Amino acid sequence: MYEKKIKPIVVISNCLEFKACRYNGKLITNSFVKTLQPFVIYKPICPEIEIGLGVPRDPIKIVTKNNKQNLVQPSTGNDYTFVMNDFAIKFNDSLTEVDGFILKSSSPSCGIKDVNLYDKLDKGHLIGKTTGLFAKEVLKKFEGLAIEDEARLANHRIREHFLTKLFLLASFRHLKKKQSIAGLIKFHSVNKFILMSHNQSKTRELGNIIGSYNNNNLEDIFNNYEEKLKIALKSVARKGSNINMLMHAFGYLSKNLNSKEKALFLENLDKYRNNEIAITSILMLLKSWVLKYEHNYLMEQTFFSPYPVELMNI
Ligand code: SF4
Repeated sequence: MYEKKIKPIVVISNCLEFKACRYNGKLITNSFVKTLQPFVIYKPICPEIEIGLGVPRDPIKIVTKNNKQNLVQPSTGNDYTFVMNDFAIKFNDSLTEVDGFILKSSSPSCGIKDVNLYDKLDKGHLIGKTTGLFAKEVLKKFEGLAIEDEARLANHRIREHFLTKLFLLASFRHLKKKQSIAGLIKFHSVNKFILMSHNQSKTRELGNIIGSYNNNNLEDIFNNYEEKLKIALKSVARKGSNINMLMHAFGYLSKNLNSKEKALFLENLDKYRNNEIAITSILMLLKSWVLKYEHNYLMEQTFFSPYPVELMNI
């Protein structure tokens, strides 16, 4: 079970549910951002307001010039590349604690991908897609954190991955402050199923890092563990790996289950395999048996509740 008392810290584009600060003076409503609000600490920011642009404002766009990408305002010819990069670096450096970002898709400042790239300032042609200038600095400095845009978060697999990573990294951030080897051993143990479903070889490497503890190297152990943990969680868990972990958990429980319950599990597993249901449905089924049969080892596994149940039902 994820740690209820720990709220992840999430930097969010201010125009997503917080402030009507878009170039056209509008706010973007987003039900996921709203649903997540009670469970995280949001830190809203609008980079374009921060660099002195008003609301409403003439739109800006990204244009290539001399092999560089510049942030420019076609109506005035103003170039905001330097000020935006400067703001992004200073803002990111000021973030001492952060677990994730939810940024506005397609924006020339906040978009993490799919931002229009033009070849000329006036009447330019669309020549490809790129990353917004603020988002580029975020991705550079915070590679490995949970970073997504609101449009991609509408996809349930991307959303599950984002939330799993977000709550797990927040839990590790708190643990790192305590610098306890016993705490790290426990963290590795309760997150074992999640880590295995994401990356088996990195999970073993994480175990080896803990195994190299010698009383004098705790800080190095935590730093190495954190670096490898972010790599382990980098990609969405593959369906095959999730199925293996679900079967693994089922193996622990099967001696308690009757034939109808076993058939129900296998039927749901097939539905998950065929994309008819999300993994959360099977996790909830397994969790009900874990609680019913009081299976202590599985009860501790965050795999069954990697984040609040209210977010599993979206
Ligand atoms: S996308 Fe980013 S820069 Fe644009 S209005 Fe939203 S927060 Fe501001």
